[in-house]
Amino acid sequence: MGKTTWVVVTAAVVAVVFSAGFIVVGDDEPAVSVMTNAASVLFAAFATVCAGRAARSTAGRKRLVWLSICIGLGGWLVGSFLWAYFELVTDIPPFPSVADLGYLVFPIGACIGLALYPVGHPGQSRTRLVLDGLIAAAALFQISWVMVLRDTYEADDTSRFAFGLSLAYPVCDLVVITVAVLAQTRARAGQRRTLTFLTLGVVVMALSDSAFVYLTAAGTYEDEIGRVVDVGYLVGLLVIAVAALLAVDEPATEPSLVRVPSRLALWLPYVPVAVAAAVCTPTNLHESGMAPLFLSTLVLVTAVLLRQFFVVRENRRLLDLVAEQALRDPLTGLANRALFNDRLSHAMQLHVRDRQPVAVLSLDLDDFKLVNDNLGHPAGDQLLVLAAQRILGCVRAGDTVARVGGDEFAVLLEGKTEHSRQVARRLMASFDEQFVIDGHDLLLRPSIGLAVATGDDATVSAEALLKHADLAMYSAKRSRTGGVHTFDPEMTRTRPKGTGKVGNAGTSTVRLLGQLRNTIDHAGLSLVYQPKFGLRDGEFVGVEALVRWPHPERGLLGPDKFLPLVREYGLMRSLTDLVVERALEDVARWKANGVRVPVAVNMFAPSLCDLELPKRILRSLDERDLSPDLLTIEITEDLLLDDVDRTRQVLDSLRGRGTRVAIDDFGSGYSALGYLCELPIDEVKLDRQFIAPIVDDARAAAVVRAVVDLAHELGMTVVAEGVENDDTTTMLRDYGCDVAQGFHFSPPLAGAELCDLLRRLTSPEPASSRSS
Ligand code: C2E
Ligand code: CA
Ligand code: CA
Repeated sequence: MGKTTWVVVTAAVVAVVFSAGFIVVGDDEPAVSVMTNAASVLFAAFATVCAGRAARSTAGRKRLVWLSICIGLGGWLVGSFLWAYFELVTDIPPFPSVADLGYLVFPIGACIGLALYPVGHPGQSRTRLVLDGLIAAAALFQISWVMVLRDTYEADDTSRFAFGLSLAYPVCDLVVITVAVLAQTRARAGQRRTLTFLTLGVVVMALSDSAFVYLTAAGTYEDEIGRVVDVGYLVGLLVIAVAALLAVDEPATEPSLVRVPSRLALWLPYVPVAVAAAVCTPTNLHESGMAPLFLSTLVLVTAVLLRQFFVVRENRRLLDLVAEQALRDPLTGLANRALFNDRLSHAMQLHVRDRQPVAVLSLDLDDFKLVNDNLGHPAGDQLLVLAAQRILGCVRAGDTVARVGGDEFAVLLEGKTEHSRQVARRLMASFDEQFVIDGHDLLLRPSIGLAVATGDDATVSAEALLKHADLAMYSAKRSRTGGVHTFDPEMTRTRPKGTGKVGNAGTSTVRLLGQLRNTIDHAGLSLVYQPKFGLRDGEFVGVEALVRWPHPERGLLGPDKFLPLVREYGLMRSLTDLVVERALEDVARWKANGVRVPVAVNMFAPSLCDLELPKRILRSLDERDLSPDLLTIEITEDLLLDDVDRTRQVLDSLRGRGTRVAIDDFGSGYSALGYLCELPIDEVKLDRQFIAPIVDDARAAAVVRAVVDLAHELGMTVVAEGVENDDTTTMLRDYGCDVAQGFHFSPPLAGAELCDLLRRLTSPEPASSRSS
């Protein structure tokens, strides 16, 4: 049996025992008097202690509630003690007496307590609750004044003080009952039980009070019927005590956002006002005894006006709240799409007027669905909240972050374009750290697209900018290499639907891109291999793998024909994976035939930000039982490294297993000298354009020689690319260059041709052209 049940059962037993006692005592007047007085004091003491306990074990506002009820009950206890003293010990009539002051503390304490009772939703002021009580009480007073009390007042021969006192009871009780009923209408599910008991107890006490006053005025309190009133008090006290005991275990209430006030709470206080108006209208204010009516009307009108004021204020606040919530995503608290669009169009208006750049970032979490499917939706929700916090941590105050779809976010950035890029990069980096959800460590990458309306471009619309950011994001998603993709007009041509908007030049691109995708999906690209030779001894040292596309209509296409598409439309990762697989496949086959062929593979710079890349490469090597030093990674051309730290991390993990790293096209203008110091590099490949002029141009020669020395100083191997003749070969050898590659030695060869070459090289008579 639960604690609550015990409490209720005990209370019921006490009530039964007490009623039985009453019956046994019968009509024995002094005994009845002793017993009722003793019971009053005892019950009041019990209720006071219970309320005190409730005050001690609760916190915050609830503590205040129980404290004021405890004080009220304490007052009642003192009152009943004095009453007993007057009635049993002295000859002083107990009514009216100072005991009444004690009793009257109760309705005040109860009223304050009920008004303070936490209702758990903002927007409904307590002041209004008290005003409602006041309105109802004033109206009820008017009704009772006109109908009953005035006559009693006129006829009464007791003192005005006694009368005023006896009037104070019903007035206080009316206020308390109204406040209790209204508090009840505002109660929330978790607290309804306690509040119901409390209300019930307070109402029973108030009714007993009113009955007492009425019976006293009628002179019948001393009769049998008076005992019912006494029992009423005791029941009221007991019920309040039960409420106090229940309050100790009551769960804390969480504030809910909005709750529409119940209809009852809205019109209830006006009912007595309407009745009072009906009752008072026929009366003549000039008659005697009407002064209280005038006064109460004044109170009533003031209270109604005040109530009106509070209701209007509350409505305004509710409206604000609702308007605010209509523009917020309830899960993350970020702006929703509506608010984002509003801010964006405002920003675009400023953009047109002031030429202030506007950028939109579109961010989508990769593989979010996996989290939802495997860990459940609450985990997914949690993840979204954490992701939202991360995004907020990367932007300035004043930037707008919105959740615009399930796992899609948008950021509006006004101001310098460079800043927007910075935010994008920061955002990307912020997702390097794992999310911890339900004890799982989750690494979730976002795909980020950036679209910028620069200062000199006033034609782009808000919708277009948003769409551009989305397109860039899709491109980032397809590439799966991480990094931020910036919108490029070419991207609008990738969307198969909407071909209507694509011009003629675009149509062929769309077609080519479709074919390319298909080819990559079906691993239809091929590789050729260009051999590299040691300059000192002419030994074959390895090959560079170069990709080709055997196109069904256009023949064998070189990289210049399709790599731009690959780069633009996010196919870099698939292409790199395909090339690595294919090259290692060949190396493994050659190895099985007894020939060791180290291979170099070209990588796009953004691929090297992909922290998963080393894992994939090393797995491919392991699967074929190849030693990692058979592979060299060439970091190709546009080495505009977004994130040097991350690139270093990727290269380190590859080199840690023995894979070599080469910097490609060195001297072409893309590869900065600084990277030689910043990145872990084994090999420098001097760009073809750099090598070609050395025979005729002394300055070019001097630079090549210096770079060779520098690379050696740093412990790196130097490879010369595009060596086309003997003179160049000789010069490079003199400069100490280690390895050469170029048409002079061999063009790129198909796999079978390479095998032939290698067989010839290892056969007894040396290949004369290469030993020169
Ligand atoms: P690269 O890495 O500089 O590759 C060398 C390029 O120079 C190759 O062109 C090769 O055919 C060409 N070449 C070799 N020797 C000579 C020579 O003596 N004279 C001249 N004029 N050219 C020579 P290719 O195959 O057209 O490749 C062009 C570029 O495409 C490559 O430049 C590389 O940056 C990129 N690429 C090729 N394959 C791949 C790949 O699998 N992945 C990536 N990411 N890029 C690749
Ligand atoms: Ca290369
Ligand atoms: Ca190169």
